Amino acid sequence: MDYIEKAMQRAKAINCPNDTTFFQALREVLVSIKPLIDKHPNYTRHNIIERIISPNREIRFKIEWLDDKNEIQVNNGYRIQFNNALGPYKGGVRFHPTVNPDILKFLAFEQIFKNALTGLHIGGAKGGSDFDPKGKSDNEIMKFCQAFMSSFYNSIGSDIDILGGDIGVGEREVGYLFGQYKQLTNSYDSIITSKPLSLGGSLGRTEATGYGLIYFTQKLLEDRQETLKGKICTISGSGNVAIHAIEKLYDLGAIPVTCSDSRGSIHDSNGIDLALLKKIKLERRASLEYYALERKNAVYVKHEAYKNGSNYVWQIPCFAAFPCATQNELDAIGAQALIDNDVKLVSEGANMPSTPEAIELFVENGVLFAPAKAANAGGVAVSVLEMGQNNSLNYLTFEEVDQRLQQIMSDIYLHMKKTCDEYELGIDLIAAANILGFKRVADAMIAQGVL
Ligand code: NDP
Repeated sequence: MDYIEKAMQRAKAINCPNDTTFFQALREVLVSIKPLIDKHPNYTRHNIIERIISPNREIRFKIEWLDDKNEIQVNNGYRIQFNNALGPYKGGVRFHPTVNPDILKFLAFEQIFKNALTGLHIGGAKGGSDFDPKGKSDNEIMKFCQAFMSSFYNSIGSDIDILGGDIGVGEREVGYLFGQYKQLTNSYDSIITSKPLSLGGSLGRTEATGYGLIYFTQKLLEDRQETLKGKICTISGSGNVAIHAIEKLYDLGAIPVTCSDSRGSIHDSNGIDLALLKKIKLERRASLEYYALERKNAVYVKHEAYKNGSNYVWQIPCFAAFPCATQNELDAIGAQALIDNDVKLVSEGANMPSTPEAIELFVENGVLFAPAKAANAGGVAVSVLEMGQNNSLNYLTFEEVDQRLQQIMSDIYLHMKKTCDEYELGIDLIAAANILGFKRVADAMIAQGVL
């Protein structure tokens, strides 16, 4: 049995016996780094796989808070500080009822390599709570955020661990988390990014993940003498990433025709009405059903009404598909439908949105596939720019941030391309992203010795 297989079996038995999502992410990385491990025996000698797949620290805490009826509510909170070989831990916070240690370990593990791909000096972490922000008043959101921060503020710091946004955590929540940290420590320490501008946030951070996704895709296509101009694109999700991906697609002359939320999907063959989408999802925080009520030609399909639970969005013929909602939302049924409709490219905006079966189908059928680790790294890259601006007090204009973002996404692609050539990977961008990210982290771990 070779080193990778042995490490994987040990991981399944010890690190993640019940953590199926974490093991899915771990397996994808370990299988694809074989060319690197074979070429450099140094990594086996330093037992780097076993060291890299165990989180440095897993923090679990209880959050007690008072709702608007003055009743006491209790939630679970977590922070997975996975790896800080390259720099302080960095990763978002997710508030969603599905949050559990398995989901957070998968997200933190992915974050290590994504952060390494940006070429910036940050480690990987992720945190969150099973708190459901849906239906909560602004006061309840504030109370919960304050209680969340009170429970674990002494584990973070601008040189230790820096938080950020994710599903259910936008500017409003970030503002409350930051305010409570300041109150507890009497310090304006930059312990969280994606802050509102009034608290030292960066221009362009809100747009960064969605815009970065499209910049990365554009670079990939440019290299194949193709563009997005005039092309039909399908997008899932209707949150921060999806909305800004749609916005940038329009800027480049593409035609985004779908979006979705946790309840259903929209197909608007004339192109998604972005102003209406923003009004419904960002201002009213309402369901996409209202989109179809206001755009008579748009079709709304509830998820439970659609066959086998697969997402209706992937049944729509398109040139490029951008899953931007959540993990494992693009399954084999969706992938097959995209392939049958001659999709050319799938570019991941969400974290691990494609199931292993879907990826296998894309690879077998020669569909160009841009993995999340690389394609959605624009958000964390601009978060690091935000940290730099907070430390230097030298603030960038929107255009400067956007320029840097384009450069970072282009560099990620060019380094991956070089890795493809070096390890003879063809168009396997999953392996390229994993090898490149893994190598940077592993080299930093070896340089620091056994700790
Ligand atoms: P948001 O909370 O802003 O939006 C999430 C969107 O996905 C919402 O519209 C939500 O619907 C929808 N959604 C949730 N579950 C499902 C589902 N099962 N099917 C269809 N839609 C669903 O989150 P973000 O846009 O910030 O994050 C989206 C993804 O991108 C996540 O995987 C996140 O980890 C990843 N990501 C985000 C980054 C960022 O900078 N924000 C950075 C890198 C990755 P509803 O409105 O009904 O809740």
